[in-house]
Order: sequence, then structure tokens, then C-alpha cells
Amino acid sequence: MSTSVLFEIKKLSKIYPQGVSALRNVSFEIQAGEFLVIIGLSGSGKSTLLRCLNRMHAPTQGEIFFQDQEISQLKGEQVRGLQKKMAVIFQHFNLIPRHSVLSNVLMGKLGRMGTLQSLFGLFSDEDRRQALEHLKLVGLSEKANVRADQLSGGQQQRVAIARALMQKPEVLLADEPVASLDPATSYRVMEYLKRINQEMGITVVANLHFLSLVREYATRVIALRDGEIAFNGNPQEIDAEMFEKIYGEGAREVQIR
Ligand code: ADP
Ligand code: MG
Repeated sequence: MSTSVLFEIKKLSKIYPQGVSALRNVSFEIQAGEFLVIIGLSGSGKSTLLRCLNRMHAPTQGEIFFQDQEISQLKGEQVRGLQKKMAVIFQHFNLIPRHSVLSNVLMGKLGRMGTLQSLFGLFSDEDRRQALEHLKLVGLSEKANVRADQLSGGQQQRVAIARALMQKPEVLLADEPVASLDPATSYRVMEYLKRINQEMGITVVANLHFLSLVREYATRVIALRDGEIAFNGNPQEIDAEMFEKIYGEGAREVQIR
């Protein structure tokens, strides 16, 4: 299979207004179709990196090419256009609790337009058909009419994945998608992410904590330490020495299984 570069990040730095230097001179590429996992201690810059990739944040310095377009300086409408191609899921799912599962999935169609349109029932039959298809893909067909807040955490995250798919994204950015879930449920959610990566060809970029998950699902790993790249390579290459370089002396790996 030939590969094509989806993202090219060149010397990216992000300094927050209060002066925190969250990313320092970060350079790497993401190929279309990868399942790239970003690891590193809390505060190492993982979320900042994801937010720069989809331009939720503006970088302080450096360049980000997405599909050959330089996006680091885009503004307003252009940023919104870009963000339609990139779906995001979060640790805390961010569903609308009192709405039905189906209506939450349909929200994915709205992008950032807000919830008002949905209240007026602006969705087409085709939208509904797609939403139900995506719910089927994450194994939740029978929950379509249940209120979102009646689902377990793992089920809610699967609804968030179905919602993300409504965008027909090129890439799915997942910021610690399983950090609030128990181990068994974490694997289940990761399996669905793997499916949409492999079967739908959607590139996945995910921040994860547990190396056991990283080894199982990542096609490549980038480790951040204090905002710098400490490792970029194959998950199998993370040996004890590299682990210490990434997480610091005295850190120990916690297994989940
Ligand atoms: P991670 O996701 O790896 O835990 P973050 O990207 O959230 O790391 O944070 C990196 C650094 O930037 C931390 O020192 C954090 O306190 C700081 N930071 C994150 N978000 C903001 C923000 N909105 N304003 C100021 N500082 C921030
Ligand atoms: Mg984070």
C-alpha cells in the first residue's frame, strides 16, 4: 500500500498566554491511515498538540500542513471548514444527557452550529439512516431511543464515536478516550476505534495512558516529555530504557488486563 502524508508538523511551539511552554519545536508527520498514539506524563503537552492539529488552538510558532495546506495561520471560517474534516472525541464523552442516543448522534451532523437546528428537526431521512447505521457499527442499535444519561460510560463513548462519524471525518482525534473507563470497557471502545481506522480508512490520533493499550492498537507512537518529542517509532521499540526516558526515572508501568 502506498502511503500519503496527511499531516506534516514542522518546528511547532505553543506558549500559552500565561507563559507556559507546552510544546517546544515539535516536528513529525502523520501518514493517512495510521493509528497514531501520543503518550507522555500529565502536562507533557498531549492535549495541546491535538488542539493545535485541529486548530482549536493557534500555535505560537511553526507550521502545520494538513493535506498539503498550511493551517497554522487560518482564521474564522477557514478554521471551521478545516474542523469539519476532523472529528474529536473526549475523555468525558460530552453528550447531551437528556437527549436520546439517536439525537446525540445526529448532532454530529451540525458540526459547530449549535443545538438549535436540531430542536427544529432539521435532519433528513438520510441523516437518520446514517445515524442508525453508525449506531449499528458501534453495537448500539437497540439503544437509539434511550436517553444518553442512562447508558454506561463505555456505551456513551461509543455514542460519541458514532456522532463523530456523522462528520465523515478524514481524521479522528481522541483525547484520552478511555481514561474514565474500566479496563474491560477500555478495550471494547478501542476495538471500535480500530474498526473505524481499518474498515473506514479514517486516520486516528489518540492520546492514551496505558502502554498495554498502546502496544495493542498503535501503528506508531509519539512520546512527549515537557513539550518535546522523546520518542517517535514503533510501540515494540519502547523497552525499559526508553520507558524511563519518556516517563522519568523511577516510573513503573501499570498493566491493565
Ligand atoms: P497533557 O494533555 O499531556 O496532560 P496539556 O497539553 O494539557 O498536557 O498541558 C501542557 C502544559 O500546558 C501544562 O503545563 C498545562 O498546565 C499547560 N496548559 C494546558 N492548557 C492550558 C491553557 N489553556 N492555558 C494555560 N496553560 C495550559
Ligand atoms: Mg490532556
